[in-house]
Amino acid sequence: MPRMNYYAYGGLDRAAALRQREEWLEHTLMEPETRLVPIWRNRNLVAEGDEPKPVLLEPEAARALMDGKRHTALLGVRDGITYVALDVSDLDEEEAQRRIATAGPRANFVDLRAVGPLMVREEGSLLAYARGLMYWHLRHRFCGLCGHPTLAKKAGHVLKCSNPDCATEHFPRTDPAVIMLVEHEGKALLGRSPRFAEGMYSTLAGFVEPGESLEEAVAREVEEETGVKISDVRYHSSQPWPFPSSIMLGFYATAETTDITIDTEELADAQWFTKAEMRDFDGVSRRLPRPDSIARRLIEDWLAEDA
Ligand SMILES: [Zn+2]
Repeated sequence: MPRMNYYAYGGLDRAAALRQREEWLEHTLMEPETRLVPIWRNRNLVAEGDEPKPVLLEPEAARALMDGKRHTALLGVRDGITYVALDVSDLDEEEAQRRIATAGPRANFVDLRAVGPLMVREEGSLLAYARGLMYWHLRHRFCGLCGHPTLAKKAGHVLKCSNPDCATEHFPRTDPAVIMLVEHEGKALLGRSPRFAEGMYSTLAGFVEPGESLEEAVAREVEEETGVKISDVRYHSSQPWPFPSSIMLGFYATAETTDITIDTEELADAQWFTKAEMRDFDGVSRRLPRPDSIARRLIEDWLAEDA
């Protein structure tokens, strides 16, 4: 199997057939083989300790969190265990923490970006999936067409408008973004956004627009951000990136021009770097993107090409 990017498939059977049975989720929430994956306002529940580990609650322990109207959604099945996301965002922070303490574990709701790279891959991927799905739930509580509340169907994978005259079904959305390493005669084009950590340079990236192919989006983004024209767009790999709701589509491309004119709205700087220069990044004044990003993977694979 090819090497997976962080947050990609974690050995989970998404068990789409189970979503078709209307009362299935409710029963499953009481089964001892079920584990609940709590989410609070896009944060995942992670155990305190040296190694970040997700807290997965047994139904009995989760009871303190299950009262009232909670959003739940089937994530999938792995090794006989059914994983279900449980959103508790309506609780204020203190109440959410109090109930978690009642449920047992010493744990906190944290941003997955802070702990993801340190986690076992399958666990990070499960949390990313739960976070992405619950982000969509939180933002689709009302129908975008008629404004009535939505109701969860298909084990939390459809949100249906409660207005019988409308009854529109809303499906989970993922926003495609392209990310690309542009190369030219042994050098790669990296840029830094004013939002980046000090010294960090990364591959260029941007969202795909309606009516545009991925290849066109790659070429447009590179030219908009740096003025560089490219050709020969090659697909590399993809990565779910639920921060908040993207799928990153990674590419390599070849530059046809090399003069750089940066878009100062998007970038603070962009430069051509040789492989030797990149390997010499000191991690302080110059650093590569975070280890769990596809940007890092694109760069590492490129550096390894003729090493
Ligand atoms: Zn509606």
